Amino acid sequence: MNPFNELGIREDIVNAITELGFETPTPIQEGAIPVLLSGSNDFVGLAQTGTGKTAAFGLPLLELIDYKKNFPQALILCPTRELCLQISNDIKNYAKNLPNASVVAVYGGANIVNQLRDIKRGVQIVVATPGRMKDILNRKAIDFSQVGFVVLDEADEMLNMGFQEDIDDILSTTPKTKKTWLFSATMPREVRAIAQNYMTDPKELTMGTKNTGNVNIEHEYYIVKARDKYAAFKRIVDYNPEIFGIVFCRTKIETQEIAESLVKDGYNADALHGDLSQQQRDKVMKRYRDRSLQLLIATDVAARGIDVNDVTHVINFSLPDEIENYTHRSGRTGRAGKTGISIAIINSRETGKIRQIEKTIGKQFTKAEVPTGFDVVEKQLFGLVHKVHTVEVNDQQIDQYIPRIMDEFIDISKEDIIKRFVSLEFNRFLDYYKGARDLNADADDRGKERGERGERSERGERGGRGTSAGFTRLFINLGAVDDFTRGDLLGYICNNTGISGRSVGKIDMKGVFSFFEVETEFVEKVTEAFKPIDFHGRDVRIEVSGDAPSGGSEGGERRERSGGGERRSGSGGYGGGDRRSSGGGERRSGGGGYGGGERRERSGGNSGGGFRDFSGKRKDDKKDGGSRGGFGGGGSRRRNDK
Ligand code: AMP
Repeated sequence: MNPFNELGIREDIVNAITELGFETPTPIQEGAIPVLLSGSNDFVGLAQTGTGKTAAFGLPLLELIDYKKNFPQALILCPTRELCLQISNDIKNYAKNLPNASVVAVYGGANIVNQLRDIKRGVQIVVATPGRMKDILNRKAIDFSQVGFVVLDEADEMLNMGFQEDIDDILSTTPKTKKTWLFSATMPREVRAIAQNYMTDPKELTMGTKNTGNVNIEHEYYIVKARDKYAAFKRIVDYNPEIFGIVFCRTKIETQEIAESLVKDGYNADALHGDLSQQQRDKVMKRYRDRSLQLLIATDVAARGIDVNDVTHVINFSLPDEIENYTHRSGRTGRAGKTGISIAIINSRETGKIRQIEKTIGKQFTKAEVPTGFDVVEKQLFGLVHKVHTVEVNDQQIDQYIPRIMDEFIDISKEDIIKRFVSLEFNRFLDYYKGARDLNADADDRGKERGERGERSERGERGGRGTSAGFTRLFINLGAVDDFTRGDLLGYICNNTGISGRSVGKIDMKGVFSFFEVETEFVEKVTEAFKPIDFHGRDVRIEVSGDAPSGGSEGGERRERSGGGERRSGSGGYGGGDRRSSGGGERRSGGGGYGGGERRERSGGNSGGGFRDFSGKRKDDKKDGGSRGGFGGGGSRRRNDK
């Protein structure tokens, strides 16, 4: 038997929700449906948005309505037009096999005449925002004297928005005998007061601890200097090419400015705030729902009740003034059992606020590091590689071009073709992020401390960022895709220059290039040692890595840099690298970068075997068979046998 049948839901409704993909009840449904179906209790449900609460009250309501009677029997009040439409559509979907069911949505900002007409036709379930509902009541266009059930959904938000008086007035027109079901994500005193004033001995159901955030949401914060906030935000977005996010700002002006800057910089973003007309807001929301918009930049008020599934990230560009609002913001992600990430970009003075939020939501934040330009480049590159790997090919359409394409590539190896395709995208990003600064607020201090304490060599750690004191950072155009390991590089340097391993600092392996530090006095020696080398037919290039000038290169317009055209649309960007589907290795938090995990996974078993297939060799090896060590395990010499 279907588990919804077991809870007491009739076959017609079960069939409809099965089509919607509801196979098993969510915890709130499991807890609430049997209680509400009895129709004899007031009820308080403390549940986050996205937990399936619409069905938790919607299904019992549909069971309790008398379909032979055509007057309002249930009233659902909710804070926003968005939510109102969402709830009414959901209930209509559940009731799709009940021909006599009638649900009407009543909300502000839309033509009241149509709503009045719908009501006149006869309605059993009214879903309404308080303002418009009161307007209609004032016109005496509806009669709630026989309402059996009132649902107050997102009660905390309705109170936040100042609807207390309207709710009082509306409820005063309903009979005393009605049952009231209240749902709220948080339980501030004001909501508790509603429960006390309007309800008799309500049954209470709490999903998770009180005021606790959704368990599916991870919380991260980044500390940056105020002037770097926007650049850091863009990096985080670039690092997550599949992002489908809501970005919260504190004011309408900030919202508009950020959205405009993003659009100018080539991102697929738009603003949602109270200065827009209802029509403009609808348009933005439609684009966001359709996923033709990737980033929705919003104020708290405008984003209330937004109920879009699969939001991957909520970004607090500015933290909310009211801590409670953080719960509402973050609740826009991690819906319907999915996981989500809520990010706060803060300055160092705001860490106290993070601690306060942690107390409120009962969850810890992870301090995350703003990705370096190179992290971003690498992530985008592997995203592209992954996408190429998984793209669906339409043979029918493409076949006609294949012979000519094959002709064009006849003299190029498979490996070279791959490199060229990848370079087409990759070079633009590399260009864009060339010399990008470390945007983490404590970056400068970290570099200093590390040098002073000599942590670099003691830790034996060759990752990380920021050049250590006394060392110079060098770029080399070989990286992980070449099956080129840190050990290989270190071995080569030591064997060919005679300098000790202690004079080599951090080695930062990237996709098709790497960085390494050497003590400044040995820079020339090392550069010289690499000059006569080529690597599998490719010149090996070593350069002193230019540390980014202040301001970096990220103030610029990405659209231009990436060759024109808006690169993000639909599912967005270069794709690939869905962090959740790629498993824990990909998570970026605290010290653990995710480039490494991802790279290892994707390059298969190469890490153990080093780069045995690719023997690097001196350029002059071609001529004279070579006299010095090429790239190879531990720097041992490799000969070109061809
Ligand atoms: P809600 O909290 O009511 O806004 O629900 C969040 C999302 O979860 C909506 O997209 C629902 O369609 C979906 N949902 C609700 N209940 C279930 C269920 N039992 N199984 C699968 N999805 C569900």
